[in-house]
Amino acid sequence: MTSNELSNASANQSFNLWYHPLYTDGIHVEARFPRERYQILLNRLKDSEQFHMFAIREPRQISKDSLLLAHDATYVEEFLEQKLSEKEMRRIGLTPWTPKMIERTLCLTGGALEATIHAVNHGGITGNMAGGTHHAHRDFGSGYCIFNDLAICAMYAIEELGVKRVAILDLDVHQGDGTATILSNEARTRTISVHCSTNFPFRKSVSDFDLPVEPKAGDELFMEKVREAVELCVDFQPELVLYQAGVDGLEQDHLGKLCVSRKGMQERNQYVFEKMLKNRIPTVIFMGGGYSKPIEHSLDSFYDLFIDASIWNKRWS
Ligand SMILES: [Zn+2]
Repeated sequence: MTSNELSNASANQSFNLWYHPLYTDGIHVEARFPRERYQILLNRLKDSEQFHMFAIREPRQISKDSLLLAHDATYVEEFLEQKLSEKEMRRIGLTPWTPKMIERTLCLTGGALEATIHAVNHGGITGNMAGGTHHAHRDFGSGYCIFNDLAICAMYAIEELGVKRVAILDLDVHQGDGTATILSNEARTRTISVHCSTNFPFRKSVSDFDLPVEPKAGDELFMEKVREAVELCVDFQPELVLYQAGVDGLEQDHLGKLCVSRKGMQERNQYVFEKMLKNRIPTVIFMGGGYSKPIEHSLDSFYDLFIDASIWNKRWS
């Protein structure tokens, strides 16, 4: 057992979930972002009966070379050297920034990458308890997203791990616009986004497949699109699926408009896990958005997401 493994789970059947205290602590206390959600969620998972099935892992910082698989060198350097303009930082949000923001971003993206490598090497389901930063573009950040972990991990899997095809299944209430543009000319990836038609980003990008849902759709209409999206995903015969599992489609969410219930969200996740298991496609969970007021509703659905992931992961063995 390695020192960066926080729980005592050891077998391959453990659900490997990457987490770092900086996911919360790297964001300024005055930022308008529910920074505490990571810490609270970890504590709730630790208190659950299923926690023995989890292996909580601490990520290392991602390398600059890995960032460059999906990002422009000038943008990467300006971020690392704290030279982004006020305007560029405002577009990202999470302000006011602290110097810890750099370390946080590198750890968070490192967590996604380590979860991806583990899924490719061992199969099953893995996850990162943050990220899903789908609004980050090649040379600028936006909407709480600095680097696009989905695009980076997809390109890393292809270039460094020999994976032939990667599908990005994005079921967050917001469109995966950054992922779509970064990977637009990449035939070895398929980007699929189910999102609310009238939510941010207001100028949508073109994914390989966009499945917009009307506001206030509710569980049934949402699930129709989810099933369609999963079919498009499986049809591509990917060797890896990167699942952006944002829960901001919930009816109590402050930034989403889809009116999906907690049960509907759970049905969504279980449907994805079931199909990926049936087709033996390793799956990485990217946490994505969740901004309910109070935050407890988002936390309930994130809790369901990771508990169900641990249960479905065990069925792989
Ligand atoms: Zn979102």
